[in-house]
Amino acid sequence: MPDPRPVSAKAAKPTETPMLRQYREAKAAHPDCLLFFRMGDFYELFFDDAKVAAAALDITLTRRGQHEGEDIPMAGVPAHSHESYLNRLIRAGHRVAICDQTEDPAEARRRGGKSIVRREVVRVATPGTVTEETLLDARAHNYLAALAEVAGRIGLAWVDISTGELVAEAPERPALASALARLAPSELLATERLGKAPGLSAALADWTDRLTWLPGARIDPDGGSDRLKALFGVGTIAGFGDFSRAEAAALGALVDYVELTQKGRLPRLAPPRRLADGAVMEIDAATRRNLELARTLSGERTGSLLATIDRTVTGAGARRLAAWLAAPLTDPAAIDARLDGVQFLTGEGGLRADLRASLRGVPDLERALGRLTVGRGGPRDLAAIRDGLAGGGAIAGLLGGPTLAPPPALIDRARQDLGDHAPLVDTLDRALAADLPVLTRDGGFIAQGYLPELDEVRVLRDESRRLIAGLQARYAADTGITGLRIKHNNILGYHVEVTATQAEKLTTPPHNATFLHRQTLASAVRFGTVDLADLERRISEAGDKARALELDQFADLVDQVTKQAEPVATCAAALALLDVVSAQADLAVDRDWCRPSITRDTAFEVEAGRHPVVEAVLQADGGSPFVANDCDLSSEQRLWLLTGPNMAGKSTFLRQNALIALLAQAGCFVPARRARIGVIDRLFSRVGAADDLARGRSTFMVEMVETATILNQATDRSLVILDEIGRGTATFDGLSIAWACVEHLHEVNRCRTLFATHYHELTALAQRLPALSCRSMRVREWRGDIVFLHEVVAGTADRSYGIHVARLAGLPAAVVDRAEAVLDSLEQGAEGRSLARMIDDLPLFSAAAAAEAAARSRTPSAVEQALAAVVPDELSPRDALELIYRLCGLARGDD
Ligand code: ATP
Repeated sequence: MPDPRPVSAKAAKPTETPMLRQYREAKAAHPDCLLFFRMGDFYELFFDDAKVAAAALDITLTRRGQHEGEDIPMAGVPAHSHESYLNRLIRAGHRVAICDQTEDPAEARRRGGKSIVRREVVRVATPGTVTEETLLDARAHNYLAALAEVAGRIGLAWVDISTGELVAEAPERPALASALARLAPSELLATERLGKAPGLSAALADWTDRLTWLPGARIDPDGGSDRLKALFGVGTIAGFGDFSRAEAAALGALVDYVELTQKGRLPRLAPPRRLADGAVMEIDAATRRNLELARTLSGERTGSLLATIDRTVTGAGARRLAAWLAAPLTDPAAIDARLDGVQFLTGEGGLRADLRASLRGVPDLERALGRLTVGRGGPRDLAAIRDGLAGGGAIAGLLGGPTLAPPPALIDRARQDLGDHAPLVDTLDRALAADLPVLTRDGGFIAQGYLPELDEVRVLRDESRRLIAGLQARYAADTGITGLRIKHNNILGYHVEVTATQAEKLTTPPHNATFLHRQTLASAVRFGTVDLADLERRISEAGDKARALELDQFADLVDQVTKQAEPVATCAAALALLDVVSAQADLAVDRDWCRPSITRDTAFEVEAGRHPVVEAVLQADGGSPFVANDCDLSSEQRLWLLTGPNMAGKSTFLRQNALIALLAQAGCFVPARRARIGVIDRLFSRVGAADDLARGRSTFMVEMVETATILNQATDRSLVILDEIGRGTATFDGLSIAWACVEHLHEVNRCRTLFATHYHELTALAQRLPALSCRSMRVREWRGDIVFLHEVVAGTADRSYGIHVARLAGLPAAVVDRAEAVLDSLEQGAEGRSLARMIDDLPLFSAAAAAEAAARSRTPSAVEQALAAVVPDELSPRDALELIYRLCGLARGDD
C-alpha cells in the first residue's frame, strides 16, 4: 500500500521526533508495504497504513502526536499475537514490512539520554514467502513463482520456500496459462512490460491479484545465472539442468526476491531442477475447474477429486498427492515406478497398516526445517525434527523387514532416503525438555541435565526463590507481624507488604533500620530491604544467564540441524512419498480399484469404469449402486458421440473417463476393472459454462473460447471431453457449430474424444466419419415414466426426454403440457414446413387452459380421492346412501 505522503528519508523536519524520523526512514525504504513498527508490546502502524490496517483488521484507529501540524493516525496490534493479524492482511493481498527493535533498550540508554532504540526492517512478509504454521495451509503447497521473457522465449520458475523446492520450465506461450493453473502460485513475480505483452496478458489475467511487479533489472538472465552460481557455489548451472536464459532469469529473480524479503536470511534451497518440455500432462485452467480436481465448481474442497481420494495422514503427504494430481506424468516408465510402489503396498496389508500408523505420528519435517533455516524456528520445530527423523528411522526399520514380494525400486529408494539420523535425534532428545514453549525467548526448553552450567544457574535461581520464602518467615518472626508477606511486581520487584495499621511497627526502631519505605497504598504499605534487593539481583542475573545459555544452545542445535539440511530434507521427501503411496494402496484395496496399464500408443480401453466422486457420494447416501461402464477409444472408434436423455449420466461418463486417465498418469490406481491408457499429452474438457462477467464474457462466449482452445491445441495424443457444444445460441447456429467441431476433431485433431450432445442430428455424421462411433445412455419406459439405467450402449438415443425431466423438476403443469403440445407440433411438422408456419398452427396458449392444467396438477382433495375409488355399478342403494353421507362429511372436513 503506497503511502502518498512524501516520506523522504533525508530531509528531517525540525519538529520531527527521532522516533518519527526512524519510522519515516523505514517506510521510505518499503513504500509498497504496510509497516509494522515495534513499540514496546505492540506493532504500531502510522499515517495511511494505520487507516488501511484499521479498516482491514477492524481495529481502533487512534492518534499519536502531530506531523506538519496534523494529527498522526495510528493503529496497533499486540506483538505476541501479531501473526493472526499478519495472516489477515496477507490474505487480503497486502505486503507487510516488519520493523523490529534490534537492540536492547538498555544499550540505547547507554549511548546517551536522547538515543532511541535501534529498529530495522527484519523481514517483508508476502503471500509467497511466509513460513509460519499459522499462515500456511498444512495440506497445500505455497508457491512463489517468477516469469521472465528473453528473446521471445518464456521462463517460468517457482519455489516453495517452506520446503526449498526450486524448479523451472520453459513453456510455449499457449501453454503458459496451463502451467500457471497447475502451480496456482500464491504470488507471481513479473515485470509490468511482460504483463502487457501480447499473448501473455491473457494468461496473466487470472492472476492479477497475486502479481507483484518487479523492475526489469531484477529479472535478468545474466544476473540470474550469477546469483544461482554464487548460491550453489558452482561455476555453471548447466550441471543442474539445461536451463534457457529465460529460465535462469526467472530462477535468479526468485532467489533475489526471497533474499530481499527475508533481509538476507536465505532459506535452504534445493539445487534448481528443470521440468522438461512435455514431462507433465497439460491441463488448462478451465479443464481443472470443470473436472473439479482440487476444488468443486462452487469453490469447496469437499467433493473434489483430491478430497475424495486423499487418505494421506501427514501434511507433507497431502501436499505431495496434490502435486501428483496437479501434474500427471507423461513418461510411462516414471508412471510405472509409482504404480509399482502402490501395487507393492496393496499386496502387503500388514506392512501398509504399520506404515500408516507410524506415519500418523510424524510431524511436518519439511516446514519445520524451512522455518529453522530462515531463523524463524522455535523449540517446537526442533522437536518436530527430532520426532520426524526418529519416525523416519522406525519406518526404515519396518521397510527393512521381511516382505511377501521384493520391494520395488521406489520403496527401496525411499528406505535409503530415510537415512540414519540417530546421532542428531539423540542430541535433540537429550537437549529438549518435555514441555516446550512456542518461542525461544520464553526459555525453559533445554532439558535438565543437558548442560551442567545451565543446571547450576537454575539451581541458583530456584535456591534464591527458596531463600525469599525463608526471609518472609524470618521477617514475620522478627517483627511479630504474622500477616507480613513478600510479594513481587514489575515496578517494585520483590518487596515486603503489610497492612496500613501494621506499617507503623516497621517505620519505628528497631525495624526501621531493616525496612525501607517504598510505597503507601490505601490498604497496604510496601517496604524494601537490603537482603531482598540482593536476592532480587541474584535471581535476575541468574534468569538472564539462564536465558542467554538457552539461546546459545538453541543456536547451536539449529546449527546442527541446518548443517544436515540436505539429508533431513531427503528424509522428509521420502516420508511424504511413502505416505502418498500407502494411502493410494489403501484406497485401491478398499474401493477395489485396479492398476492401469500405461502404453506409448493411443489406446484408451476402460472396462467397468466408475466415477470416483459420484460413486463415493452414492455409497455414502446408501442409495442405488454406481453403474460401471466400458469405454474404448481405440483408433478405429476414437470419437464417441454420446446421446441420451437428460439426467441419464452422460456428463458423469465423460468425466469419469477423463479422471481415470488423469489418475492413471498421476501414478494412482483407477476405479475400473481394467484400464489401458496410451499416454495423453493434454487433457481438455468443456462442460457447462457460466458467465465470466469479470472478464467481460457471456456464457456463450466462454463456451466458444474454451472450444477454440481445444480445436487449436488438441493433438492426436490428447484426450478431449466435450459436454454440449452450441447450446447457448440459436438452435441452427448451435447445431452447425457442433457439426463443424465434430468434423474438425475427427479430421484435423484426430484426438481421442468423448462428445455428448442433445443434437441427435449429429449422429448422421457416423455415415461419413469412419472413426466416429455412436453411443447412447439406455433408459427404460415404464408405465409412462422413464427409468435411467445409466448404461452406455451402442447406438443413438431417439429422444432427450427433456420435458419429462422438466416435469420431475417441478415446472408448472401448464408449462409442461404446453411444451408437449409444441414438441408434438414440431415433430409432426418437421418435414417441409417452416418453423413460423408450425407455430402459427399451434392452438393459442390460453390462461384458462393453464388454470385448468394447474387445477389438474394440484393434489386431489379428499372428496375427489374418495370418488376416484368408487365403481358406481358395484354400489348397492344402501352403499350409495352411505357414500353420500361420507362425501358430505369429507367436504365438511369431518374426521
Ligand atoms: P444432462 O444432459 O441433463 O446434463 P446427464 O446425462 O449429463 O444429464 P449426469 O449429470 O451425468 O446426467 O447424471 C445425473 C445423475 O445421475 C448423477 O448426478 C448421478 O447421481 C446419476 N448417475 C449418473 N451416472 C450414473 C451411473 N453410472 N450410475 C449411477 N448413477 C449415475
